[in-house]
Amino acid sequence: MNKNIQHIVIVGGGTAGWLAANHIGKAVQGNPNYSITVIESPDIPTIGVGEGTVPMMRQTLQSFGIDEDEFIVRCDVSFKQSIQFVNWLDKHKHGANNSYHHLFDFPYPFKQDLTPYWLHSGQGRSFADTVSVQAGLCQAMLAPKSLQHHPYEGDATYAYHLDARKFAQLLSEHAQKHFGIQYQQHRISEVSLSADGSIAALLTANGQRLTYDFYVDCSGFSSLLLGKALQVPFIDKSAELMIDRALTVQVPTDKAQPLPCSTYATAHQAGWIWDIALPHRRGVGLVYASKFMDGTTARRKLLHYLGQPDDDTVQLRDIPMPVGFRQQSWKHNCVALGLAQGFVEPLEATSILMTDYSARLLAASLPSCHTELATLAAQFNQRLEYSWLRVIDFIKLHYVLSDRQDSAFWCAMRQPDTVSPQLTALLQRWCYKVPQSTDFFSKFDVFDVENYLYVLYGMQYPTQSPYLLPDYLHWALQRVEQIDEVRKALCQQLPSHRQLLLQIKQRFYARQ
Ligand SMILES: Cc1cc2nc3c(=O)[nH]c(=O)nc-3n(C[C@H](O)[C@H](O)[C@H](O)COP(=O)(O)OP(=O)(O)OC[C@H]3O[C@@H](n4cnc5c(N)ncnc54)[C@H](O)[C@@H]3O)c2cc1C
Repeated sequence: MNKNIQHIVIVGGGTAGWLAANHIGKAVQGNPNYSITVIESPDIPTIGVGEGTVPMMRQTLQSFGIDEDEFIVRCDVSFKQSIQFVNWLDKHKHGANNSYHHLFDFPYPFKQDLTPYWLHSGQGRSFADTVSVQAGLCQAMLAPKSLQHHPYEGDATYAYHLDARKFAQLLSEHAQKHFGIQYQQHRISEVSLSADGSIAALLTANGQRLTYDFYVDCSGFSSLLLGKALQVPFIDKSAELMIDRALTVQVPTDKAQPLPCSTYATAHQAGWIWDIALPHRRGVGLVYASKFMDGTTARRKLLHYLGQPDDDTVQLRDIPMPVGFRQQSWKHNCVALGLAQGFVEPLEATSILMTDYSARLLAASLPSCHTELATLAAQFNQRLEYSWLRVIDFIKLHYVLSDRQDSAFWCAMRQPDTVSPQLTALLQRWCYKVPQSTDFFSKFDVFDVENYLYVLYGMQYPTQSPYLLPDYLHWALQRVEQIDEVRKALCQQLPSHRQLLLQIKQRFYARQ
């Protein structure tokens, strides 16, 4: 029977559920044939972590029509301009606290690439400093924009650090108010299947039977619909990315101190520690491979990082993390997004990125009747599988490039049989040739040549220095001087990060 798809349910009211509600709600806005409901359990909390985003979030929020000032004030936002990786290289060779930036500004947009110049004669300076102004802004803890900029625009590219629970709340209010999304609280206790294997109904803990045409599973790690009910296998990637556990904590920030605008990712013997500063508090978490470090050592390391090595009273949250993704993200009349679809360690903030990206894709390919399901599902799954594999490659890159020798973890992460053939081939090619945009031929690559350049050359990848014509060298030297001038001017013009957030807050309340 070719039934129309009109009634859509999203199970889960975390970041994934509400991002999906806004994307889908916007896509069908004004169409009276659709109704969209978000169902959330009153007694299963959201995961409540996930504070780092990538620049795509700006486009997303702007497309929803969310006021940037309101978002910044209500979600305790700080600006994020880079990820600063600390100690990802051997400290004996590169110094204690060696570090590099993966910047959000792409290398300066000249007609020609400055990377060959840097490889040839620029290595007295970091790659990031040579090709962009932004590392300088991060070091000086300056905002990426001033109060006069249009919403969602700046002198430098930026993303956000945010309070995850407040973010979900804002997205929820927006989806209900602007896109007519309905919200209900039920604990789903069972999922009933039709004879063809698709989902027929959701059964609630208080005995209600709820039926819809299309089901979006945003139920978090439990993957209640796609994983449990539809039995879509989980592709375990823990042999490639071994980090599988997190300890998290929140600590107050000193408001008199400058506010960092980078996520710090500091490597340790069996993983790394993230440190994200919001205006009032830091979110800090230690992730580790449980195969190589026990929980007591992990706790000790995190307390040491926080400067409270002997404090037994600090409450840490312990979160096991499955590593991998569902073999299909879409089966029959059900699509999973967010943690229900997949997860890998939070380096590079790929989780909200993949959720946002999949929710956009779903909204753009929403089925209107059941006959469309199989074709759309096949396309969606093919794209998502490709994207997940490339995300895993990009995360893996950070480990493969490391020359740390100080623990079994770092050696294991570099083992050739844990690296995909695609990444291995690219790394071989990049021994002789600077990465090109043509090395990334699909728009489903998620991370592009610019992202790879920052990581490769931040981690000193030894691409053979190319032969360069004197004209190019002359041109490049002038461009590098130009970048230095722009950086100097911006450092004089831009407000401090903390000052801008304060100004935005004052402007927002003055408008109320
Ligand atoms: C340690 C850690 C650090 C992270 N850091 C980052 C980061 O910096 N950047 C980033 O992009 N991502 C990060 N993530 C991922 C990020 O937290 C998630 O992508 C994001 O929070 C989305 O989660 P979710 O909405 O899929 O699931 P959840 O937040 O878990 O929400 C699940 C929802 O499903 C509902 N639900 C569950 N079962 C039922 C049921 N039976 N009936 C009804 N409702 C139900 C719950 O009530 C809840 O509303 C991190 C994750 C972890 C574990």
